[in-house]
Amino acid sequence: MPVVQRVCVLGSTGSIGVNTLDVIARHPDRLSVYALSAHSRINELAAQALQHAPRVVIVPDAHARQRFIDIWPAGRTCPEIRVGAQALADTAADTEVTTVMAAIVGAAGLPGALAAARAGKRVLLANKEALVAAGSLFMQAVRTAGAELLPIDSEHNAIFQCLPQTADRVRAPFRPAEGVRRLLLTASGGPFRCTAIEQLEHVTPEQACAHPNWRMGRKISVDSATMLNKGLEVIEAHWLFAMPMDRIQVVVHPQSVVHSMVEYIDGSILAQLGQPDMRTPIAFGLGFPERIESGVGLLELARLGHLDFETPDLIRFPCLRLSLAALRQGQEACITLNAANEIAVDGFLRGQIRYTQIPAIIEYCLDAAAGSRQKALGSLDDVLHLDAHTRRLATDFCRASC
Ligand code: NDP
Repeated sequence: MPVVQRVCVLGSTGSIGVNTLDVIARHPDRLSVYALSAHSRINELAAQALQHAPRVVIVPDAHARQRFIDIWPAGRTCPEIRVGAQALADTAADTEVTTVMAAIVGAAGLPGALAAARAGKRVLLANKEALVAAGSLFMQAVRTAGAELLPIDSEHNAIFQCLPQTADRVRAPFRPAEGVRRLLLTASGGPFRCTAIEQLEHVTPEQACAHPNWRMGRKISVDSATMLNKGLEVIEAHWLFAMPMDRIQVVVHPQSVVHSMVEYIDGSILAQLGQPDMRTPIAFGLGFPERIESGVGLLELARLGHLDFETPDLIRFPCLRLSLAALRQGQEACITLNAANEIAVDGFLRGQIRYTQIPAIIEYCLDAAAGSRQKALGSLDDVLHLDAHTRRLATDFCRASC
């Protein structure tokens, strides 16, 4: 009989959160929901709580708490309602919790993910922004606390599956795995891979969010359209696998069937293939080291017929170029890149700025950071401080561009 994991799903109302609950519900003998969290979708949170019976729900403020209480049906046992950002981190570290799905979007997910690592949990990391903003801090916490780190981002999950099967691979490596030459990170190229570059200025949020292969939250969908997402993923791979940047190659693969690859020094390339469905990496993380049913159907390779690969176009996708430059510059630039992008994408989704202004805002903030004195960034507070500073800068730039 497998040990039952009690899972805290941070960001349960999002795309990853919903897929996580779908997988958990398939395995009542080994997985149970301990806590769920939402930010704005309180009705959805209540519906999830009615279905999955968590002990705890976490909401952002007193208003959301009252809404949850108002919606909750009489006669059903109400979960404990915890309130505020600190409650996310506290619940992630709760002694009752064995496993934390870190699926809050953006740097807002960093404190909860870090708290889970510091408490030595099994951390299923979807929130790539945590590693982009605080890679060194986060990986050190995983090592010190003996946490188990399982990447959920499909590319990193694929690489994890293709790496040598050592016992300590969940413990945050100090150096690249033996015998590995390069990591090959695949990218779909998003909805604008073939759009005429002069038309990009006029694309709408709906067009940017219409990803050809994946159904995801709106922020990561825009990141995929700009390929900033792939830049974040290169930074994420650098930290997760202790891999120097020049040994991580981005390959455009429009079908999103090969989720990524590992190239070995003997010339072998191992790939992980599957449907573009996040339940596969989620089930891998929840079941590890065993394989468990995810609900994902068959992949009919013969029906696909062919798989294509291309070099990314850094003129079409300036955000990818900026991300690689940020990784080269260091942590301060990575925090700046991420925070400026979050503000720019939000502005684009609200119709305040054009799609082509996203890289302009990021570049402006990176230039400003490069001109300022380098700060010590040894703690979570340092990271959050620079993140907040960049958000103000990017917001001002957005307003001035409107
Ligand atoms: P969604 O936008 O669908 O969901 C985000 C979740 O975070 C929601 O539950 C949302 O609550 C919550 N949230 C938003 N802002 C805050 C905040 N300030 N404080 C606390 N909670 C907040 O995102 P995705 O599920 O698509 O992505 C989640 C993370 O996983 C991202 O980091 C993304 O990069 C990563 N990822 C996603 C993939 C995907 O297929 N979707 C693939 C690989 C990685 P509410 O809905 O109630 O507002």
